[in-house]
Amino acid sequence: MYYPKTCRCGLPTILKTSWKPRNPGRRFHCCPKPEPNCGIVDWYDPPMCERSVAIIPGLLNNMNRLQDSSRENLLKARRLKWITDADDDYVN
Ligand SMILES: [Zn+2]
Repeated sequence: MYYPKTCRCGLPTILKTSWKPRNPGRRFHCCPKPEPNCGIVDWYDPPMCERSVAIIPGLLNNMNRLQDSSRENLLKARRLKWITDADDDYVN
């Protein structure tokens, strides 16, 4: 269960997730205001082990590359379908 702390503005913190290489996936208490705000209050999760810090950024990069590739393939498939449908219209 998440119990918010209080940020330097005096507001209850929100929980955010760090995706920086040193703390990938580690959650922290943060000011609820949009940036620029009073910043990070404290970590919610314990520190990551060295093995996780070494492996997770590479996995995230691989995942992002696969998502980009998937998006490009979807666009190519839509273009091919458009060309195929246009050819069908021309024949009929
Ligand atoms: Zn604040």
